[in-house]
Amino acid sequence: MEDRRFVRPRKKLVETLKKKGIKDERVLMAIGKIQRHKLIDTALHPKAYVDTALPIGMGQTISQPYTVAAQTELLEVHPGDKILEIGTGSGYQCMVLCELGADVYSVERHPDLYHRAKDALREHGYKAMLKVGDGTLGWTTYAPYDGIVVTAGAPVVPDDLVKQLNVGGRLVIPVGDENKQVMLRITRVSENEYQQEELDNFKFVPLIGEKGWGA
Ligand code: SAM
Repeated sequence: MEDRRFVRPRKKLVETLKKKGIKDERVLMAIGKIQRHKLIDTALHPKAYVDTALPIGMGQTISQPYTVAAQTELLEVHPGDKILEIGTGSGYQCMVLCELGADVYSVERHPDLYHRAKDALREHGYKAMLKVGDGTLGWTTYAPYDGIVVTAGAPVVPDDLVKQLNVGGRLVIPVGDENKQVMLRITRVSENEYQQEELDNFKFVPLIGEKGWGA
């Protein structure tokens, strides 16, 4: 049952994202539907629909809605696309991808967050395949993917991820140092050719793993 207190703030959030430049109506509809407050501590509920990242425990965050919307827009998700997310966190980005009709796979390194996200997705009726692991290595079992989105900041582009893209597939990944990362979109244009676009600057928690920052 929807809590009426959050309906207006969520609508306002969608308006904010439009003003900040998010154009994809399907992405905006997904943000307008997902109950973000259910993914955070009740003490943070007043900030649930403020366009900001919020703590979810283990020193991690639920991403800022603008960041989620911008990364999803860059992924250009079509219904039925197979999408891999690295960094499940709260499950919010997963839910957005599910709303767009994607077949979603997601890897999280913290078991606690994995369990919480798994429960939240089930409770909200979303189907996604989740696992605990090092997402810098991708998820070979289900590769190749039409899109891969990395929701933590990487020092370099992990080669395993580009190799797990379909031809025509897109990898959206923030790359840089601990303080600032540039969003890259890498498209696999043929078996051996990739095209790279550099987009805006963002600030993410670090991507920790074999092909990321050291633990
Ligand atoms: N997508 C998340 C959401 O919607 O709530 C945001 C997650 S937070 C910004 C980044 C997540 O990446 C954290 O949960 C962190 O534990 C996870 N992470 C960092 N390095 C990872 C790795 N190598 N493999 C999998 N998850 C990783």
